[in-house]
Amino acid sequence: MDTKIDSLGLAMLHAKCPRCHQGDMFQYKWWQLSKFIKFHQICSECGLRFDREPGFFHGAMYISYAMIVAMVVNVWLILYFVFGDPAFEVYLTVIIFLNIVLLPFLFRYSRVIYLYAFGGVKFEKQLKKEDHK
Ligand SMILES: [Zn+2]
Repeated sequence: MDTKIDSLGLAMLHAKCPRCHQGDMFQYKWWQLSKFIKFHQICSECGLRFDREPGFFHGAMYISYAMIVAMVVNVWLILYFVFGDPAFEVYLTVIIFLNIVLLPFLFRYSRVIYLYAFGGVKFEKQLKKEDHK
């Protein structure tokens, strides 16, 4: 059992359950590249169902789309202003490379943000496992 995290930001950073901030949303760490996608259906600590309704996490693609757009804009700004507007192929290569490298990050945090924002779940500080089954 992990320790309870009071901070919302830290709970999101560590991909903890939005209700108890204790159970992990994902079964493996993000750097375990062959299985970072594996997701717990139910919180191991409080029993919250993460997939709030069938297909709930399809909405997370809007979050990952927004994250990719933000990344592309930042890459463009950095390449343009810091590296003096290199050839188009450089933009393309950097953006494709970052998309591949950041895939586990984008996948996980789009789901974390989506669940925290639209899951309709509030942090219950005093929650005990026996309270919810
Ligand atoms: Zn929980």
